[in-house]
Amino acid sequence: MAKSSVQEAKIQCPCGRIIESPGDYKLLFLKKELNEIDILCPNDTCHLRELGYIKFKIEDDNVKFESARFYSPFVTWNAGRLGREKALQILKEHLRAIIHEHIDWNKIKEDYKRRMREREK
Ligand SMILES: [Zn+2]
Repeated sequence: MAKSSVQEAKIQCPCGRIIESPGDYKLLFLKKELNEIDILCPNDTCHLRELGYIKFKIEDDNVKFESARFYSPFVTWNAGRLGREKALQILKEHLRAIIHEHIDWNKIKEDYKRRMREREK
């Protein structure tokens, strides 16, 4: 029984893709002017694609994390499968891991500085 409950306690995208670990998400830094990083489903043919986002701000030339969340269709889907409390707990851990382990903040800072330099030209 313990084994099956571990099996069930996995986050899944509504497209069916199981997210085994926070490293499974695709992170896309396209909304540069908005200081926003998209969290995408690892499934390329996913109909949802965007599962959440991470926002940051620039203060004194430093990149600072501002906020992160998953979008409600993704949260609701998992809350329905795992129970709301369990789902929110795991998703919160996923966001934490993405922010602390999977985003290259130095690279984002460099990118920001480069854009600022280009703007000054
Ligand atoms: Zn998906």
